[in-house]
Amino acid sequence: MLRRSMLDHLNFELITPTAAIHRKLHGARAKCLQRLIRLGMPVPDTVAISTPTVRSIAGGQQPEMARLLEYFGNWPVLSVRSSPVEPDWGGPGTILNIGMNRTNEAFFASRLGSEAAAALHLKFIRSYAVDVARLDDEMFDIPDLTVDKALSAYEDETDEAFPQDVETQLLSVLKSMARAWEGTSARLLRMSKGAPENAGLGLVVQRMAFGMGKGESGSGVIQFINSDSGDAQEVGRYKRQSQGRDALSGAHDDTMYLTRDKRGPSLEECQPKVYAELCRLGGAGRTGLREEMQIEFTVEGGNLFILDAVNTPRSARAEVAVATALANDEIISREDAVLRIEPRAISELLHQQVAPKAKRDLIARGIAASPGAATGKLVFDAFAAQTAAAQGEACILVRRETSPEDVRGMHAAKGILTERGGANGHAAVIARGLGLPCVAGATDIDVDAKARTLTAPDGRVFAEGDAVTLDGTTGQVLAGAMRMIEAGIGGAFRELLTWADEMRDIGVRANADTPEDAEVAGLFNAEGIGLCRTEHMFFDEDRLTVLREAIFAEDAEDRAAALSRLLPMQRADFRDMFRIMAPHPVCLRLFDPPLHEFLPSTRAGIVELADALDMSAREVQTRVDDLAEINPMLGMRGVRLGITVPEIYDMQARAIFEAAIEASSEGAVVVPEVMIPLVSAKREVEIVKSRIDAVAADVMSETGKTLEYRLGVMVETPRAALRAGDIATHASFLSFGTNDMTQMTYGLSRDDAGRFMSDYVNQGVFPEDPFLALDQDGVGELLALASERGRHVRSKLTLSVCGEHGGDPESIAFCRSLGMDYVSCSPYRVPVARLAAAQLAIRQPVEDDDVFEFPEDEGFVPL
Ligand code: PEP
Ligand code: MG
Repeated sequence: MLRRSMLDHLNFELITPTAAIHRKLHGARAKCLQRLIRLGMPVPDTVAISTPTVRSIAGGQQPEMARLLEYFGNWPVLSVRSSPVEPDWGGPGTILNIGMNRTNEAFFASRLGSEAAAALHLKFIRSYAVDVARLDDEMFDIPDLTVDKALSAYEDETDEAFPQDVETQLLSVLKSMARAWEGTSARLLRMSKGAPENAGLGLVVQRMAFGMGKGESGSGVIQFINSDSGDAQEVGRYKRQSQGRDALSGAHDDTMYLTRDKRGPSLEECQPKVYAELCRLGGAGRTGLREEMQIEFTVEGGNLFILDAVNTPRSARAEVAVATALANDEIISREDAVLRIEPRAISELLHQQVAPKAKRDLIARGIAASPGAATGKLVFDAFAAQTAAAQGEACILVRRETSPEDVRGMHAAKGILTERGGANGHAAVIARGLGLPCVAGATDIDVDAKARTLTAPDGRVFAEGDAVTLDGTTGQVLAGAMRMIEAGIGGAFRELLTWADEMRDIGVRANADTPEDAEVAGLFNAEGIGLCRTEHMFFDEDRLTVLREAIFAEDAEDRAAALSRLLPMQRADFRDMFRIMAPHPVCLRLFDPPLHEFLPSTRAGIVELADALDMSAREVQTRVDDLAEINPMLGMRGVRLGITVPEIYDMQARAIFEAAIEASSEGAVVVPEVMIPLVSAKREVEIVKSRIDAVAADVMSETGKTLEYRLGVMVETPRAALRAGDIATHASFLSFGTNDMTQMTYGLSRDDAGRFMSDYVNQGVFPEDPFLALDQDGVGELLALASERGRHVRSKLTLSVCGEHGGDPESIAFCRSLGMDYVSCSPYRVPVARLAAAQLAIRQPVEDDDVFEFPEDEGFVPL
């Protein structure tokens, strides 16, 4: 007996305030309806069917239908809706008016009127035929369709009588919905939204509130915010003599506005009591469910019923506005508000996006290398991009791959598309820094820079000047100029991030290369600059020529002369960055790329340089060829230049120190951080450090001012990670350059990985692109090892990540777990990192005891 009653309990549960309704067992809709009932909302009788029961129905078992129908008394007319555990897992559509048959029609004719009763009956026949018997709706395209005509059409088509019995009708509906859930396409669809393979479906069976018949009757949908902005606003429609979501679909000429509106009649005017009650219930729902709800309601003979409620669909911007407003109204805590926002969705707010409903004409796909969208005319080189910008025209710069020569053009363009390149290649890194959308590694397109054409995989040819749109958020290249929605950083966004800052326990700095970038970093409240790639300051045309002179210098004296012309330029930039960021720190990385990257690669460029240097084009070409390397990323770059061509680092150190003294004299004491790139041995640090110390001493004696600075090492090679203990004896900080570290640990070129990365990820060789999400197992192990070895030698060693992974939420969690002090990422990812860091601190607070302090070595003198 006990067993039997437990089984019943599992089968069907009338939803009451105290019934045992569980989201995991009965689904989100059933749970939400129970909450509405607890809030006293007029919800028609509803029974929840559990997921195991639905599964057994799909498997052909016969539930106890009589017991189910008992809940609804005589003359039951019902609806069935799906109730998955997560609303966005989908599920079969709602079926209304189950139970309508000839007898019921006659019964309801007296209550609702014969016209309404017949209309309800007809509606059910059609939806049963289409959704359950899987017939074509066109078979009902009959002039002056009546119930009789519909029934005979059904019988002609199926050679069976239309089921009259409520039990049979309901059972067929339940079976059909249960089986639809098990279908392959439904399964794939929900798995793409994160549902587990074996996700179950709950169902809810509800007594119909008709919305048709005598007195004021109709149905509608209401929400209390604007879905785009999140601002408080009643939005929705009501339609007389209708059911379900009819008011939102089809022709709108017979629908009503909800609030007073000049354009036509409104529920507020026609049914003020119903409207006022609806608003009252909406407010109660917001407070009680701690969410903005969209409510489906029906009015039957002047009485209001609430049939269903779902979280109001909304944009990322509205999500932030809603969470902040709920916290400000003390409905949820600030921590809850911060936890509600998906950090990656934040980047949607910072960039222009393609309008969600705009029709997309896809040209090709590539790696979504930098988020946001832009539209403009195609240009095929940096010069054309600058010309377009000078004429006030938006352009998209397309290159096979980009190099430092393209940077000025990249500044001028609205978006960047490359045929080659990976998620952390040149184009991607620069575009992210500039906040420009970028699609990289679109290997299916064919770029012909000479002919100035782009050929799509389907054979379409796009020429210079043709309008295209880049969606860097999805990696799509689209034909034509798409409609856009603007970035939406508002007061709510700033307020929420201020709360996040109070909660997080890991610092967030920005990677910024110029004073302009530093301004953006400041705008996003970065707590300093974690990486300034100082060579990026040489991309202005006049500076590039001087740098090239230095590169071409025959001897140290000539080189020093050329560099002395660069000195004031760098000093001015550094001073401006210190000023902009004060009192926050600025970390300046000394010159890193191979010199060859700064030399021209085209014939025209060679001739131009020959003019500037008063050399023959042949001489220039020979020098360029001499400097070429077979494997430049593993060649003469980073600290190797610092050792072999030390004048460049000397000039940079001087510029940094003079700028620090200048900026300090204006107020805040500036303590510059100087970082040495691509180190692999302790001796490299010793040599460079002694020269930098000497420059500091010179600057102090020349100016008569004292100067403090911190010297650090960028850990980018596996050897530097392994020898972090040695290296830390000479460094007050280590910053992990995880772009190069990933490249070197995998032996995988960051500029070429785009060619095969999608195959690798699709075939499950790599779970994700390791240039986007830090490979915690491999590269991560090196980081852990280096952190431990470094802090063992120097317990107060500052640790950070400044590779692109610094803006990735999962990678930030990993860095935090290693006890790092901060992460540094492109300015536009700073808000994402601030939010992600706060969420980590809320979910898993670090106890003081958790942080292991390594003992300070005896006799060690801190830098
Ligand atoms: C890195 O290698 O992770 C890094 C930040 O430096 P870059 O991207 O300039 O090589
Ligand atoms: Mg690097």
